[in-house]
Amino acid sequence: MSKTYTKREFLKMMGLGLAFLPFMSCFNHSSSNTEQEADGGQQKKDQRAEDNSGDELKVSDEDILLLTRDDQRYADFNMAFNKRIKHLPKYIAVCRTEKGVQYAIQKAKAEKLKVAVKSGGHSFEGFSSNDGGMVINVSLMKKISWLENDEVLMGPGCLLQEVQAGLFPRKRLLPSGSCGTVGIAGLTLGGGYGFFSRKYGLTCDSLLELTMVGADGRVYTTKDDKELLWACKGGGNGNFGVVTSFRFKTYDMPPTFDSYVLKFRNMNVERFESSLSTWFDVSEKIPEEAFAAYVLNGKTLTILITTYKSIPGFDQLIAPLTVLADSTSPTLNADLPKAMKRYYGRKGPLYFKNASAGLYRGKADILQVKEALFGLVAGNPGIVFQVNTLGGKIADGTFEGTSCYPHRQLAYLGELQAYWELESKEAGLVKAFEDIQTLFRNGGIEAHYRNYPDINFKDWEKAYYGDNYGRLQEVKRKYDKDDLFHYPQSIRV
Ligand SMILES: Cc1cc2nc3c(=O)[nH]c(=O)nc-3n(C[C@H](O)[C@H](O)[C@H](O)COP(=O)(O)OP(=O)(O)OC[C@H]3O[C@@H](n4cnc5c(N)ncnc54)[C@H](O)[C@@H]3O)c2cc1C
Repeated sequence: MSKTYTKREFLKMMGLGLAFLPFMSCFNHSSSNTEQEADGGQQKKDQRAEDNSGDELKVSDEDILLLTRDDQRYADFNMAFNKRIKHLPKYIAVCRTEKGVQYAIQKAKAEKLKVAVKSGGHSFEGFSSNDGGMVINVSLMKKISWLENDEVLMGPGCLLQEVQAGLFPRKRLLPSGSCGTVGIAGLTLGGGYGFFSRKYGLTCDSLLELTMVGADGRVYTTKDDKELLWACKGGGNGNFGVVTSFRFKTYDMPPTFDSYVLKFRNMNVERFESSLSTWFDVSEKIPEEAFAAYVLNGKTLTILITTYKSIPGFDQLIAPLTVLADSTSPTLNADLPKAMKRYYGRKGPLYFKNASAGLYRGKADILQVKEALFGLVAGNPGIVFQVNTLGGKIADGTFEGTSCYPHRQLAYLGELQAYWELESKEAGLVKAFEDIQTLFRNGGIEAHYRNYPDINFKDWEKAYYGDNYGRLQEVKRKYDKDDLFHYPQSIRV
């Protein structure tokens, strides 16, 4: 049922009441179910298909559940985090093994169906599903195993909260995002940033190797092809094949986490300018262990600053911001695993439209449109404009060559968000959203983060991949020459 939120409920929904907005709501997809539950207690049954060589691949329910629309489990596996996105694939192949994935690929080819790949289901634009095609859902492939040197092997179905639950008891850390139900697969393949990225790089920078089933049904490992590894560090989302495992390096888990939440109420354009300008000045000086976000939600501004290392003089460093704020709430020396749970976000699904608002060089990129931008955010409740710090180790030259993520020198990521519950609100909010996008586009902001896509980005190839698009097309031709893996912004053959 539709409902109108009170201001308090709205803020809570936005994560500002209890947690924090950028790492907002997520939901427990049925992929969190155990395999036993997902199986529905069905008897094992064999399914057969032919691969390219004519060999028959024999699979059972232990490899794959091939769901059609009349199956009662279909709706659960068809759910996406974004309620606005509605797709109806012909088949949802819930795969538990590589053999299951191979079978699903054979089946799709035999029926001439396009294939989308789904893990955590958080794609802003529903790129992990399709209409009338095959969706290969690997959300049940959640195994985590430890290797030598504290390296970890992970199934693509692991959600970020499961990654943390697997790593923290061993006092290890994988730098990733904060929302608990985002999938490690989509996050890593598109880059992946969060609290720890300025120290260790993007999540994909910790990726050592992956295994993938290509369009020909063969299993590939990046041990044999460094170019595939390069392509999957920022450009691997549903483009070349189905990733079935990731090998990551891990880092010592810091024991504690500090956060400062600064509130500014009744903002106007002058305060917007001074707070944003100061936020940039402070952000430029914070050490790599720290992260900062600037979140304008209507006329309320929230700034989050975090760190996980005792930094002498940190209070003085952020003082130019705290003196401007109406209030500052520090939480110091919190137990890190517990602190992370605060950012897992709300369970969904939700109606929303989110997209990159651009990667910026500095404050001038935003201040050039300050009046119109502030007017559109403040005048349209439900619209949120956010800037996050990147930079630090992300900008490290060594990662330039080992990954296709092209925007390492742009140290700030903008995110535009719109949330609604009543469908009648959608058109007005989306209009304001698009007006803000036009402001930035006219201001020359062209670089965007692949994991914050928008179906309306015109020059998306350049926006997401910079000068690397042509090289990515070569990888596409090698692993998927007939464009089996296809969605509106997949890499073209
Ligand atoms: C609430 C929320 C919070 C977020 N927070 C952050 C954050 O803190 N940091 C950040 O960097 N990003 C964040 N994101 C963006 C997130 O990284 C992307 O949405 C990511 O692509 C989601 O991955 P997924 O596996 O959950 O989604 P899915 O919808 O399953 O997949 C996303 C894309 O990856 C492809 N893909 C998924 N699995 C595979 C696979 N096994 N093999 C090949 N391709 C695959 C899909 O085809 C699709 O194109 C957030 C998104 C949301 C909705």
